[in-house]
Amino acid sequence: MADFPTSARVVIIGGGAVGASSLYHLAKAGWTDCVLLEKNELTAGSTWHAAGNVPTFSSSWSIMNMQRYSAQLYRGLGEAVDYPMNYHVTGSVRLGHSRERLQEFKRVVGMGRYQGMDLDILSPDEIRSRYPFLETHDLAGALYDPYDGDIDPAQLTQALAKGARQMGARIERFCPATGVRREGDEWVVETPKGEIRCEIVVNAAGYYAREVAKMFGRDLPMMVMSHQYLLFDTIPELESWSKGVGHKLPLLRDVDSSYYLRQEKYGFNLGPYENPCRAHWASPDDPMPEDFSFQLFPDDLERLEWHINDAMARVPLLGQANLTKVINGPIPYTPDGNPLIGPMPGVPNAFEACVFTFGICQAGGAGKVLAEWVTEGATEWDMWSCDPRRFTGFEDPQYCVEKGMEVYGHEYAIHFPHHVWPVGRGKKLSAVHDRVAALGAQFGPYNGWERALWYAREGDDTSEAAQRTWEREGPWFGAVREECLAVRDACGILDLPGFSRFRVTGAGAVAWLSAQITGKVPAVGRLGLAYFADGKGRIVTEMSVARIAEDEVLLITAATAQMHDKEWLLSTLPDGLTLVDETDGWSTQILTGPLAREVLVAAGCEADLGKPWLTWSEGRIAGRSVLLMRVSFAGELGWEIHSRVPDTPAVFDAVMAAGRPLGLRPFGMFALNSLRVEKGYRAWKGDLSTDYTVLQGGLERFVDWSKPDFRGKAALEAERQRGVAKRFVTLTVEAGECDPPYMSTLWHDGAVVGETTSGYFGHRVGKVVALGMLRADLAVPGTVVEVEVFGERCRAVVCEDAPLWDAKNERLRA
Ligand SMILES: Cc1cc2nc3c(=O)[nH]c(=O)nc-3n(C[C@H](O)[C@H](O)[C@H](O)COP(=O)(O)OP(=O)(O)OC[C@H]3O[C@@H](n4cnc5c(N)ncnc54)[C@H](O)[C@@H]3O)c2cc1C
Repeated sequence: MADFPTSARVVIIGGGAVGASSLYHLAKAGWTDCVLLEKNELTAGSTWHAAGNVPTFSSSWSIMNMQRYSAQLYRGLGEAVDYPMNYHVTGSVRLGHSRERLQEFKRVVGMGRYQGMDLDILSPDEIRSRYPFLETHDLAGALYDPYDGDIDPAQLTQALAKGARQMGARIERFCPATGVRREGDEWVVETPKGEIRCEIVVNAAGYYAREVAKMFGRDLPMMVMSHQYLLFDTIPELESWSKGVGHKLPLLRDVDSSYYLRQEKYGFNLGPYENPCRAHWASPDDPMPEDFSFQLFPDDLERLEWHINDAMARVPLLGQANLTKVINGPIPYTPDGNPLIGPMPGVPNAFEACVFTFGICQAGGAGKVLAEWVTEGATEWDMWSCDPRRFTGFEDPQYCVEKGMEVYGHEYAIHFPHHVWPVGRGKKLSAVHDRVAALGAQFGPYNGWERALWYAREGDDTSEAAQRTWEREGPWFGAVREECLAVRDACGILDLPGFSRFRVTGAGAVAWLSAQITGKVPAVGRLGLAYFADGKGRIVTEMSVARIAEDEVLLITAATAQMHDKEWLLSTLPDGLTLVDETDGWSTQILTGPLAREVLVAAGCEADLGKPWLTWSEGRIAGRSVLLMRVSFAGELGWEIHSRVPDTPAVFDAVMAAGRPLGLRPFGMFALNSLRVEKGYRAWKGDLSTDYTVLQGGLERFVDWSKPDFRGKAALEAERQRGVAKRFVTLTVEAGECDPPYMSTLWHDGAVVGETTSGYFGHRVGKVVALGMLRADLAVPGTVVEVEVFGERCRAVVCEDAPLWDAKNERLRA
């Protein structure tokens, strides 16, 4: 015990593939004074029994980044650390049964190409040249991923551990973390072998992450699923084929039937994601054991029967093989299926790298991302999809179990842009939820809040099946058009519960805020948009700022940003200033359209409605106090009506009753999306992310260069001097049946020159509008480029650097 480390810069709790990769990447970044604690032997959690598949495929840009990085890292790792590994890069064939599935593949091929990967689409005839033993008569095509393969997960973990040790990091095996406590600015991690004082702690405890999080007082949103794969014996025909061609079959995924099938030696490994599926340790009569190291659940083949038969019909060779072994192990799931990588919410100097569903193929990238969070406080790629702060605390255990099962049961499902997953709904309801529901609202959740997406009319198809399309013109299209035109010609109202709002007060509040944002803090009585940059000048977040008094500001931001933005603000808030999270106390109606003022007057609103755009005022509607903010994300004359939750029904009723005769009509989030792209208004974590700097984002008019300093100023000045490499543009697109999704590539002269960040049909301008980032020399009005939409190149024209709709903002100022 004499050499047990008593201090370290970082302590990582958990020695699976992800913990080992985190240690390796910290050491690579020069942080070698790090210790990893593993309560058993390395890999004892989920890692030892993982199938070891290493796909790069993902329809998420950031997850694809992580997986691509992993695959690259694994190729050279054995040699780099002198630890030979079984890593077979076999390529993979992902089968598509439908046109929609092929569209998904084409989109991913486009994204992959942008990330430097040559993914490809195969016709049914071509599939057999890659995979000879396959029934193809009912297939629409396939995606070929030449980088896919399989790795031995234990060897991977040991190689990462060896590499980390070689650089000076330490690993303590059979040494559980049993508690943590804060002493001054340090953490003290308690273990049976002694205590370790450290600056930073990382929870990498896999499916035990929730237990470890409790030591920090955190209730971590996760659950545990059982996942099985089946190992089949040698098949002589496969053996002789494999020996003849000198390689293995590519990995096969029949995603519409929901399984993977991989050649394992000269037999097969079949892994279904079945539905119905099985959660574990989710109820009091099935408690999580104190220790489950190197253990498995009992086999449960019955629920896989359909998939086994389907796989045998697809690859008849499988029918010749004997089943030799079943592996049934625990996999942790968050409510959206993505892992947690990043700052631990509400806890200083603590991070998470846990709850990985695909932790083998993501371990490499996850270690890089975690190490960047720890050493730099920011990551190279925007990693919001994995940021622990995307969950805000409403995700109770039942919700986690239900959502985890939904994700697992649809592991390979297509995520369509207008589709809403049905489980775990109704967690947070607006004060006028019943009223908007009665008006036909079709809801979708935003940070748990149910918001109207669109309002169905008599006869509109509101089934979930109808949402499963990439096409623009689903059943909502006509209704959304009417909603947009009502906003254009008369007035619309959007019930918007859940806006995050923080009130900051105290002497020096404005000076503090000014140092955090790129622009000016508005004068008392005024409103403004504020951009928060990181030290590299990249866009961290955007908030509306209402200056309430000399030393008081109200900051309003996206529902999903509640935890993220609050932590961002608190991280620099000095003693003496107070920040109060008022999110739950208030609700908001967006009232917008040329008749918005008449509607408010008719509703008996007592307020100065003559105050100009970008001001706020106090008023009364139906005898209730309201805060009126003269802004409109829809780009028409309008006010946000902020009311206290108990007052909201009365306010809503008064406005609706007064507005109806004037043509007032409710509208939803789909219409708002259409209206805002026509104005070039950016959405957080789509158009605005840390993938772009404030200057690239075209937000220079929100930068006050005359301020002595603000976060990111030096980096932005340097960028301005060197010249901005790419720029935000609005494009009109001659698209076919589908709007360009997020991260569709932009082409010019046969080269990729940018990407879209939003795309939607603009009903006021009658065109498909895309927002995106384009190489700076091409970001000139009138330039013609092409947008790749599901594999099809569509002509697009760069618009003037002004909103497409109401270029001079005259309607807003009316
Ligand atoms: C049957 C099956 C097949 C799979 N196939 C694949 C696949 O093909 N590809 C893929 O990418 N993923 C696959 N997975 C998922 C993959 O196994 C996991 O995502 C991955 O192993 C997670 O790694 P990890 O390091 O996050 O967690 P783990 O491997 O679970 O490691 C966490 C470690 O923390 C330790 N620990 C817990 N509490 C403490 C404590 N208090 N103190 C110290 N140590 C502690 C545990 O002992 C454990 O070793 C599969 C999973 C299953 C069940």
